[in-house]
Amino acid sequence: MSKKFYLDNAATTRVKKEVIDEMLKYFDEKYGNPSSQLYELGRRSKEAIDNARKIVADFINADEKEIYFTAGGSESDNWALKGVAFANFNKGKNHIITTKIEHHAVLHTCEYLEKFGVKTTYLDVDKYGMIDLEQLKEAITPETMLISIMFANNEIGTIQPIEQIGEIAKEHGVLLHVDAVQAMGAVKIDVKKQHIDLLSMSAHKLGGPKGIGGMFIRKGVKIDNLIHGGGQERGKRAGTEGVQNIVGFAKAVELASKDFDAHVKKLTSLRNKFIEGIKNNIPDVILNGHPTMRLPNNVNFSYKYVEGESILLLLDMDGISASSGSACTSGSLDPSHVLLATGLDHGTAHGSIRFTIGEETTEEDISFVVQTMKGIVERLRMMSPIKNDEDLYKK
Ligand SMILES: *Cc1c(COP(=O)(O)O)cnc(C)c1O
Repeated sequence: MSKKFYLDNAATTRVKKEVIDEMLKYFDEKYGNPSSQLYELGRRSKEAIDNARKIVADFINADEKEIYFTAGGSESDNWALKGVAFANFNKGKNHIITTKIEHHAVLHTCEYLEKFGVKTTYLDVDKYGMIDLEQLKEAITPETMLISIMFANNEIGTIQPIEQIGEIAKEHGVLLHVDAVQAMGAVKIDVKKQHIDLLSMSAHKLGGPKGIGGMFIRKGVKIDNLIHGGGQERGKRAGTEGVQNIVGFAKAVELASKDFDAHVKKLTSLRNKFIEGIKNNIPDVILNGHPTMRLPNNVNFSYKYVEGESILLLLDMDGISASSGSACTSGSLDPSHVLLATGLDHGTAHGSIRFTIGEETTEEDISFVVQTMKGIVERLRMMSPIKNDEDLYKK
């Protein structure tokens, strides 16, 4: 088999070997139900969960009693928004502030809540994908119950000034929910310093298994329970715990915290080489996202006058995995809501490719991918009837 270049680490990551080894023990040796406290096997499982909760809590500077395990980022986002909205029903608070570039787990939940009388304000972003703090302040009303803003964007990598957002939320007595799924392992998260009340996490974006994540809920925050049933997760999310997944999530977090600074430094340097490589080798490209306030692994460009989907097909022939400006809603030809929010026109948004590098990416990989992209874009542009902006407008 020829070499593969997996450059879609924002979609998911390979599960680390140490994570798999740790998880395997909880399938056969240590399979007890953590609710079975009257015998050793059950107690061992309970201890494993307690230990995992402590690791995740320490990673974001929370108390372990403030961590709840969920089935991933989407579930946590749903819980944060629905849980706060339902806890505020008929209490005069029914307004949520979010942004136009959130993950669909947030945006579609807001749409759903609108059915129950919740009102949503969607903040604009500038061409780099940054929100405007003044617009945020102006959007707050006496009815506002929640601000939900992602730490870092999954498509363009832009990192928001969460600490300043947290200060604004606190000043106005409004809860702040942060989707930190992409930020975990890439940006320092400190829920105390950053005044975060609710935080969504997911394991599979940082070397853990799919289908497990977590939610930080600050002590005292009023939120409805998510799943009704037994007393698991302090009665807030019932159901026998996926012990092996929880243990795997914690192992991934532990590994991420161990060499955090070195890892971020290495990725940032590779990312910058990648960005320079594209800029220096391919004309008529636009870097999407912020030039510096961006995730250390994100390289997202628009290649004018070509189709992203065509690029992806040709990249795949060379064993390169990436994603396009509409891949999240595969099957639909709508360009990404994130790219449109940054002001790109439909055509340019369609010609966007996101590469997200990972632990295994090397400098040689990047040189190869840059050269491959150069060839692909030249070829597609040669075939395209659209060669410049004037041709675009002629149509
Ligand atoms: C991947 C992702 C999610 C969803 O997480 P899952 O664990 O896959 O449900 C939510 N928000 C962001 C920013 C993401 O990148």
